[in-house]
Amino acid sequence: MTDKYAVIGNPIGHTKSPLIHSTFARQTGQDIAYGVIEGPLDGFCQTVDSFRAAGGCGLNVTAPFKLDAFAYATDLTEQAQLAGAVNALKFEGDQVFAQNFDGIGLTRDIVHNLGFPMQGKRVLLLGAGGAARGALLPILAQQPAKLLIVNRTESKAHALVAQFSNFGELAAASYPELSASPETFDVVINATSASLRGELPPVHTDVLSPDGLAYELVYGKGLTPFLRLAQGTGVRRLADGVGMLVEQAAEAFAWWRGVRPDTRTVITTLTVPLV
Ligand code: NDP
Repeated sequence: MTDKYAVIGNPIGHTKSPLIHSTFARQTGQDIAYGVIEGPLDGFCQTVDSFRAAGGCGLNVTAPFKLDAFAYATDLTEQAQLAGAVNALKFEGDQVFAQNFDGIGLTRDIVHNLGFPMQGKRVLLLGAGGAARGALLPILAQQPAKLLIVNRTESKAHALVAQFSNFGELAAASYPELSASPETFDVVINATSASLRGELPPVHTDVLSPDGLAYELVYGKGLTPFLRLAQGTGVRRLADGVGMLVEQAAEAFAWWRGVRPDTRTVITTLTVPLV
């Protein structure tokens, strides 16, 4: 029997998830149908109830429903609990298992696909929103020498440090404090949404190391202002979030189906050149 999955979001017209998951299904011989659900903004629970009643087995969850999915779940992983948000659901009888694979997708892309180990490295994370929060546990699991969170609203960065301090060494700072410091970082991750509006977080070029990696979570936009800044500073390794997108999808697929797909061809298909 064909098992049903879907992605739910609003708006959802831009989603790459059907392409990604149907490719994974073909590749691994899994009999699944993967749909797209534009959930009404005030009707997440009813929409998911209907999907489950029609035999749905699992959902990918995207904006603005990651908090609704968190509230809907009956069984949250530690990663989802700490992220405070959920991007994948699995339905088994009355149980709703929930996970957040965004951060795991990010670290898999950096470490495995880009070949950039973070162990012992200095990591700078720009932003303290949902994506940054979800990235913290997977980054700390890589045992970086230092993890510094810098956010426009500084208090949010300090709140994350307080929440995650049991899981590793991390610190918070403001953009002015970062600019005043002589520190450079091996990996600088732009987890702000600034690039979606063509904006640049107020980060000073001195934090970027030419031998390091500049990673932009936004994908499909070519050289964003942040990546352009890094390129202009001489940073040789630049990446956007397409690999993160595909890797988090692969984690969800493996969680649902028990088989891990190969991500390389899908990443290549979806990659927009950084020019
Ligand atoms: P949120 O809205 O939760 O957080 C946005 C963050 O960006 C906040 O920390 C905010 O700071 C900061 N910010 C926004 N504009 C600026 C600016 N001009 N200068 C400095 N900081 C700014 O968004 P998410 O965390 O959910 O998503 C962040 C980005 O990651 C999005 O662009 C999203 O598309 C991308 N993403 C990519 C994924 C992938 O698979 N590649 C997966 C998930 C997200 P403040 O707190 O001060 O408002």
